[in-house]
Amino acid sequence: MERYFLPYHLEILSRAVEVSEDIVSDSFGLTTDYWKKNPFEVKTLLQEKIKKIPENAYAHLSKYENTPFLKAFGSDIKSIYKIVIFDPRVLRATMGISHIIEPFLIYVIAHELIHILRFSRFECCVNLDEKTREEEIVHKLTNSTLKKVKIPHLSEVIDYFEGKIETLHPSIN
Ligand SMILES: [Zn+2]
Repeated sequence: MERYFLPYHLEILSRAVEVSEDIVSDSFGLTTDYWKKNPFEVKTLLQEKIKKIPENAYAHLSKYENTPFLKAFGSDIKSIYKIVIFDPRVLRATMGISHIIEPFLIYVIAHELIHILRFSRFECCVNLDEKTREEEIVHKLTNSTLKKVKIPHLSEVIDYFEGKIETLHPSIN
């Protein structure tokens, strides 16, 4: 039986979205309307079914065009990025410990926001064989960005994603 986010986890998620947006905006000097021009939404697996979940991933990023009335001209075209959080995996990795879930989600979301940033600036590689390289770049940028901020337990989460520790131990408090 998979466990999904409960309402209180969704509150943590919504806080984590705000915090990661602020961190990425500050760190990359984004204008205040940047995320209005490049909107994104965050869903969980319970809200959004995904057929193939890649191994070792905690989220999936996709993009769709929001053109409900086929007014597909100029500024009427708005791409919306969609981040789907694999909540059962997040719960497993964090052992469901609330104060670890928040920095963990901040990390995962910041990573996806940096992907969006690079997409929107055409800095990223789109070829399939360049995907791994892009992943490495985003991984490094995420770590260096998050190392600059002070958030409880974020450093453990960074160590975890950098492979320095194997588990987020429950004794961390
Ligand atoms: Zn990625």
